[in-house]
Amino acid sequence: MRGSPAVWRLTSDPLDPPDMGRYLEQTTIARPVTMRGTGLHTGGQCAVSLQPAGPGAGIVFATESGALIPASADHVIETERGTSLGAGGESVGCVEHLMAALYGLGVDNVRVEITGPEVPACDGSAREWVELVEEARIAPLGAAKPLGEFKAPIWAGDGAGAVIAVPGSRGLRLAVSVDYEGTVARHQSLWIRLTPRRFARWLAPARTFVMEGELEALRQAGLAKGGSGANAFVAGPGGYSGPLRFEDEVVRHKALDLVGDLALCGWRFEGVVVALRPSHRRNVALAGALRAQFLGAAAREEAVRRR
Ligand SMILES: [Zn+2]
Repeated sequence: MRGSPAVWRLTSDPLDPPDMGRYLEQTTIARPVTMRGTGLHTGGQCAVSLQPAGPGAGIVFATESGALIPASADHVIETERGTSLGAGGESVGCVEHLMAALYGLGVDNVRVEITGPEVPACDGSAREWVELVEEARIAPLGAAKPLGEFKAPIWAGDGAGAVIAVPGSRGLRLAVSVDYEGTVARHQSLWIRLTPRRFARWLAPARTFVMEGELEALRQAGLAKGGSGANAFVAGPGGYSGPLRFEDEVVRHKALDLVGDLALCGWRFEGVVVALRPSHRRNVALAGALRAQFLGAAAREEAVRRR
């Protein structure tokens, strides 16, 4: 796996004001790769093929019928037990672990060809997605994209939790905390500066979990049909359903989900994201608010450049 992409700063333009944002070199993957597996919620067979894409393409899902669904907060249609995207009457479910792997490793542009209604669950973590991207190799594209720019904290929250982005420098850092009352998973928190290597090692292997008390409700709602000990663990009042990969695997998985949902802002950015009881709904709301800021900043920069 390559290290962090080069940081670009445009200095050749005389109209470039001194406070212009920083630029990163855009990336894609060097060759196509494929993953097959079972969907967590439908239990059906699905396959995902990652294809190289050019500068500015972003991450775009292409369904069997030819619909294109951009991986953007603007296209999120569902955040209950996973993040689903939709456009033109088509949808793709459970995108967050794949999105986390792409964003965590710094891959900007990929065409994701998908067969089936959702992204394969794999082992419930992003580890196999990381391995797949490493197999495909990350390729620089020789084109720059500015970092997402926001000037003041933004948050998305409700009575049960909040996710807050604070502008900063020196990369993206996450402070995440969870508290599942009545279960073994109480008061777990983590603090991490996100780099491709740290993401791959400390967040990607953390698996999906479910609270014992929620299992019946999930089944009744027709969800988690493909769920099993092979792709999720259960947290009950007295302990876990099996051995863990990390003592604090629950909060690490919530951080992994957060990365996958933040990816839907469509930009890489610097600062601190503080997540107190994050959920897909709160994460996606923050990603949408960040996206709106980044779009505005990019439009202003473009206007200055054209002047
Ligand atoms: Zn997850």
